[in-house]
Amino acid sequence: MKLTILGCYAATPRSFTNPTSQVLEIGNHLFLIDCGEGTQVQLRRNKIKFSKINHIFISHLHGDHFYGLVGLISTFMLLNRQNDLHVYGPKGIKEVILLQLKLSKSWTNYPLYFHELTKKTPEVIFDDERVSIETIPLKHRVYTNGFLFREKPGDRKLLINKAKEYKIDVALYKSLKKGKDVIAEDGKLISNALVTADPPEPKSYAYCSDTIYDPGITSQIKGVTALYHESTFLESESHLAEPTQHSTAKQAARIALEAGVGRLILGHYSTRYDTIDFFKKEAESIFSASELADDGLEIILD
Ligand SMILES: [Zn+2]
Ligand SMILES: [Zn+2]
Repeated sequence: MKLTILGCYAATPRSFTNPTSQVLEIGNHLFLIDCGEGTQVQLRRNKIKFSKINHIFISHLHGDHFYGLVGLISTFMLLNRQNDLHVYGPKGIKEVILLQLKLSKSWTNYPLYFHELTKKTPEVIFDDERVSIETIPLKHRVYTNGFLFREKPGDRKLLINKAKEYKIDVALYKSLKKGKDVIAEDGKLISNALVTADPPEPKSYAYCSDTIYDPGITSQIKGVTALYHESTFLESESHLAEPTQHSTAKQAARIALEAGVGRLILGHYSTRYDTIDFFKKEAESIFSASELADDGLEIILD
């Protein structure tokens, strides 16, 4: 599982920082999470193939999370995209995008599907043999969802030398990877455990932006490999967190601690701060495995 941060700053784009967008790579999937202004440029800068993005998840309809979407959809058309594109986001996202496409007479030449979300409880919105994705309802000024990505266990690892030793036909290797026992060339039944090893532990990633401090989410995200939690403010500006329904770095760390996550990635920094170093310091005082997202950063989640 690989996470690429395209943008992780709140509010307005600046010359060196971008509003929210990130790409999560799981197997052959490239999931785009939020799509603030400038996302296309950031995709180019980070050499991410446009054509591999088939699923886009929008947390909420504040501009710093989706103003890049219509541009990206339009560029896909100019690039002569053929594949289906699925957009998941709050009710209203279809209307706002289609109105712009209609008035600019830029109908797409590829199938575009909107999956509008309205529920206030977690729901599974994507599921295949490799990954399942569910919403994490968040508390913010408008209807907002985070997203929880859970890898499914992969195939068992074939111990090739053992398989040869037991004289197992190559044609049966696939069955072994699926956990089945097989018959060797000499007619003996070979137990799967003799020739395979457990697959790597499946990884999970919880994306939570934007939200007020809400311990109610911790049971859903318990034990995830990595949590991205917004930290718009430092504690020194905690009086701003409640009215704007954002969190401080310390509050993000409390959520990480209570949920027992593997690591905490901070982001959605207010652009009022000259440096983001203090966010890490503040979070570390509560939860030691805290780190900073930054634009262009690639993070392997293992
Ligand atoms: Zn935001
Ligand atoms: Zn917001």
